[in-house]
Amino acid sequence: MSRRDYYEILGVQKGATEDDLKKAYRKLAMKYHPDRNSDDPNASEKFKEASEAYEVLSDTSKRSAYDQFGHDGVEASSFGGGSSQGFNDIFGDIFGDIFGGGDPFGRRQRSNKGSDLQYSMTISLEDAVRGVTEKIAIPCLETCSSCGGSGASDGSKPISCDSCSGTGQVRMQQGFFSVAQTCRRCRGSGQIISNPCQACRGEGRSERSKTLSVKIPAGVDTGDRIRLSGEGEAGINGGPSGDLFVQIKVLSHDVFERDGKHLYCEAPISFIDAAIGGEIQIPTLEGKVKIKIPEGTQTGKLFRLRGKGISPIRGGSTGDLLCRAVIETPQNLSKEQKKILKQFQESITQDSKQNPLRDEWFSKVKSFFDN
Ligand SMILES: [Zn+2]
Ligand SMILES: [Zn+2]
Repeated sequence: MSRRDYYEILGVQKGATEDDLKKAYRKLAMKYHPDRNSDDPNASEKFKEASEAYEVLSDTSKRSAYDQFGHDGVEASSFGGGSSQGFNDIFGDIFGDIFGGGDPFGRRQRSNKGSDLQYSMTISLEDAVRGVTEKIAIPCLETCSSCGGSGASDGSKPISCDSCSGTGQVRMQQGFFSVAQTCRRCRGSGQIISNPCQACRGEGRSERSKTLSVKIPAGVDTGDRIRLSGEGEAGINGGPSGDLFVQIKVLSHDVFERDGKHLYCEAPISFIDAAIGGEIQIPTLEGKVKIKIPEGTQTGKLFRLRGKGISPIRGGSTGDLLCRAVIETPQNLSKEQKKILKQFQESITQDSKQNPLRDEWFSKVKSFFDN
């Protein structure tokens, strides 16, 4: 890439005086400063270019090297390897905090944005599935009620800062032009509090708790984060507020277990129902549902209830409820009951295929020992 002549960049003659250079640079720097041209990506380049040209030409030895050898003559100096150190320094020297201080390209720029806050919210599975609006109390800084935000104690008033005559800024002669800087005494407020408010220690703000209504959408799960933009900590000196992030944790449920959009539960089934068939009620989040237990139901059988799961927060089909059968062996039987069961057992003949699992198991064990 061929590089433009430094004099040409600044729009001055070869024989330009130091004063001409400063005037020319200042004009360009003001015009192309990135803070004033945030929507023009070329401005930043033009600003850098002008800064580099000025940095070289304003330095007597660099200027004479440049006059003799062109860009090669100054390549090895402060701009060698594309370092941007040089113009950052002169930027600070010349502009002070005209643009609010900091680096013109945002690298060290102070942010006045308030901090983001995080709030952990624990909700029930029912609320997670249906969605809920929760009121939460979060700490925030509010205008102090004792002093109305002035920071001065009852009856007293903040007085105008004598260092800056209440303007908050002092003008300083820096090099060839004057620069406005934030007044150090009043930190830019223009006022001095001689008798600070006790409640807020002169800050004008105090910590309060504010109540927010947070709408939790249906389908949220543990780990989801809801962002409430602008509800974080208040900004400093009128800066924008941070955001509030609500981190969701869903409590475990007595009956249901969740896996993504599906719900799981277990249903104990009497061995009679399991053997001869029957009907049981199983719970869903929308109430009880009757299902048929077919004859010969075994432990572990899953009954699927379509659409009785969860509607995913990011769209898609609603999940299912899967109910796992657990056959319960009766306990504490009476003598009479035991007798009936004994009779039943004797009624089972070999090869009746009434206990196929057990028959298969016995034959496997038999062949294991026979070998
Ligand atoms: Zn106060
Ligand atoms: Zn002041």
